[in-house]
Amino acid sequence: MLIVPEREIANLMTRDAAFDAVEGVFAAMAAKDAYNFPVIREAIGHEDALYGFKGGFDKAGMALGLKAGGYWPHNLEKHDLINHQSTVFLFDPDTGKVRAMVGGNLLTALRTAAASSVSIKHLARKDAKVMGMVGAGHQATFQLRAALEQRQFEKVIGWNYHPEMLPNIEKIAQEAGLPFEAVPLEGMTEADVVISITSTFAPSIMADHISEGTHIACMGTDTKGKQEVEAALLARSTVFTDEVAQSISIGEAQHAVAQGLIRESDVHQIGAVINGTHKGRTSESEITLFDGTGVGLQDLAVAASVVELAVKKGVAIEVDF
Ligand code: NAD
Repeated sequence: MLIVPEREIANLMTRDAAFDAVEGVFAAMAAKDAYNFPVIREAIGHEDALYGFKGGFDKAGMALGLKAGGYWPHNLEKHDLINHQSTVFLFDPDTGKVRAMVGGNLLTALRTAAASSVSIKHLARKDAKVMGMVGAGHQATFQLRAALEQRQFEKVIGWNYHPEMLPNIEKIAQEAGLPFEAVPLEGMTEADVVISITSTFAPSIMADHISEGTHIACMGTDTKGKQEVEAALLARSTVFTDEVAQSISIGEAQHAVAQGLIRESDVHQIGAVINGTHKGRTSESEITLFDGTGVGLQDLAVAASVVELAVKKGVAIEVDF
């Protein structure tokens, strides 16, 4: 068995490799070559932790396995550890023998950033100039850094519920040599691309905060009850997602479907756009909305990619198991 520890991931995994892995697995999912297993997520009644498993099998990429982990809210204060903890296990699809154990913390951030980035590549207008961010927490910095590589952006605008966190994303804009402007939510109408990545249960972004022609990637809603955007915005948009079943149950589309504003058949797989079986954006004025719920296959894809890189660089630890 190979082990790739968390400490090695930053030196191995690139944004390009994460992008390719995630784009590939979204395509495989739409072609029905890959599928996600039902997600298990439990409040374990200890340390207020949420723990679970996300798994799947990608027959195209031959990745079989699961990510185990979750959220321990007191880690930082009690143990100086980050609150999200996860590990990916990969198995040989031919034999079932465990193949690798891979640190999953940074990989989760990178695969989530790659997902919104893939959606921008395939759905945003080519002439997009203004990048809008709603959210400025841990994940927002990753999303923004990856997004800025997708178009020739000239400016970043941002809003956050906790304005004192905005310097987190301002720093990323500056690193990319772009001006940053803090705006009220109404100011988001200037954006050609918006990413929302917050943990809110009440929508911040209203339908009229988004202009015609915009692409919006909603990345924060990954649980029943969470909601970042007004359901009416989904009715105004062409809606895409990683996984339709998740989108309508735990993703942003859960609310619009529950309110009867859209139907399940109105939610399209991003993989179909990648494969060319869905036309994607069809006009300059269309609003495209990507509901990124986060699937286990993304984790397996980036883990498989990092194992390959670790073997190439000679840093994978081999144990007899
Ligand atoms: P974080 O705790 O670092 O940041 C939380 C963000 O949400 C901050 O910007 C904060 O200001 C904002 N926020 C908090 N309460 C709010 C409210 N009431 N209204 C509006 N904004 C509010 O968390 P993070 O690691 O950046 O994760 C953000 C979200 O993304 C979480 O909901 C997380 O579950 C989700 N997530 C999704 C995926 C995926 O694959 N889709 C992957 C990782 C994380």
